[in-house]
Amino acid sequence: MRFKTVQKAVFPKHNKSRTHNKAIERVDAPSIMVYPMSMHLGAPAKPVVAVGDKVKVGTLIGEGQGFISAHILSSVSGEVVSIEERDVLSGVYTCVIVKNDGEYIEEPPFPEAGDNVAPDMVPELIKRAGITGMGGATFPTNVKMIPPKDKKIDTIILNGAECEPYSTSDLRTMIEYADEIIEGVRVIDEGFNVDKIYIGIEDNAKEAGEALKKAAEGYDKVEVKVLEAKYPQGSEKQLIENCTGRQVPSGGLPSDIGCIVSNVGTFQMIYRAVRLGKPMVERVTTISGTPIADPKNLLVRLGTPIDDLIDVCGGFQEVPRKVLHGGPMMGKTIKDGAIPISKGTTHITFMTAEEVDEEERIDCIRCSECLNVCPVSLQPILISNAYERGDIEKAEELGAMDCIECGNCSFICPSKIPLLDNIRKSKAAIKQNAKAV
Ligand code: SF4
Ligand code: SF4
Repeated sequence: MRFKTVQKAVFPKHNKSRTHNKAIERVDAPSIMVYPMSMHLGAPAKPVVAVGDKVKVGTLIGEGQGFISAHILSSVSGEVVSIEERDVLSGVYTCVIVKNDGEYIEEPPFPEAGDNVAPDMVPELIKRAGITGMGGATFPTNVKMIPPKDKKIDTIILNGAECEPYSTSDLRTMIEYADEIIEGVRVIDEGFNVDKIYIGIEDNAKEAGEALKKAAEGYDKVEVKVLEAKYPQGSEKQLIENCTGRQVPSGGLPSDIGCIVSNVGTFQMIYRAVRLGKPMVERVTTISGTPIADPKNLLVRLGTPIDDLIDVCGGFQEVPRKVLHGGPMMGKTIKDGAIPISKGTTHITFMTAEEVDEEERIDCIRCSECLNVCPVSLQPILISNAYERGDIEKAEELGAMDCIECGNCSFICPSKIPLLDNIRKSKAAIKQNAKAV
């Protein structure tokens, strides 16, 4: 079994001060809502509505397909006006377009929800609510919460280590919804009956730790772990090691070493689904960056186009050159403001021309910095080189699939080689090859 060292890090500027202390604000949904069937990791959902159908808040509009997939539920009431292919964040996918009637009429709560839900019903309610991880990876949560038959889970870890620059959505969720988060933990603990529950936060989020400690008073297995603010402190493997001292083996899962890890906001959604019978139809997202006049933490209905949030944040005080879904480390560049807020939208970052590093790529100077900062001990430049010469087998042999896509290598590279981009493309090609066999 090959173990990896997971303690390498970089220290990008946090850039969180403009939204750190701003309470979450709910925003009105616009008249046209866009629901891509690909808001999650895994197989896209399949539309189960037709043009002209009336929907309510919580109506199933896309049914998850297969084991790794998730349902999509309407976040507004209104009428389906189109079902069309659109270029959204992760490629071209079918989108259901709903005209919002502004009434927000809700479907009834799940009838099985309440204070005494049997543990084996919990994954079913999570699935029905369409919950995915809210830290960005969007793995379907019901799959994670099915107890494995062959392994004992003894530890739950809540990921509140919000290490991406600019994002304060987890911070504010922890401060303002601490009780709901802890109640969500109790729901999962009732099924797994773990020995220990850790909540990992960074040392720049101490108010969040205080709020969670207060909410968990008397719940003795809960421990708030205050960790150094460094990148990628919130990556799953790094967080597990820093909370428990255990290492996930290469190619392994947290459950292999007795752990379940999920984002803090995901536990809030679990509480709402299982105790209140509510679907996942909204999330907190931070809209930030120098060009934004009044950056904010917003409670946004899923499916709201990004363009509709800019005025809410005072518009632009400088012309943006680049827009990222996420932050500068792992974020994906967005070309179109019609792309909607999705289950994994932790934050949207706008950057000025000065902030966008536009230096030209030069040849590798063999400084080894990319190796030095890789938290999973890969050789990023070798994988990147393999990809660029079309040798996907070599990229795989070099461990491309172990890359956690933290972006450290691209951040540190003085030659501006698009290491993360090339590794992401290698991973996609490896998966494609595996499907073709
Ligand atoms: S993006 Fe991948 S290869 Fe680059 S430093 Fe992070 S884990 Fe290593
Ligand atoms: S950090 Fe950049 S320049 Fe340095 S070895 Fe890696 S790829 Fe080459």
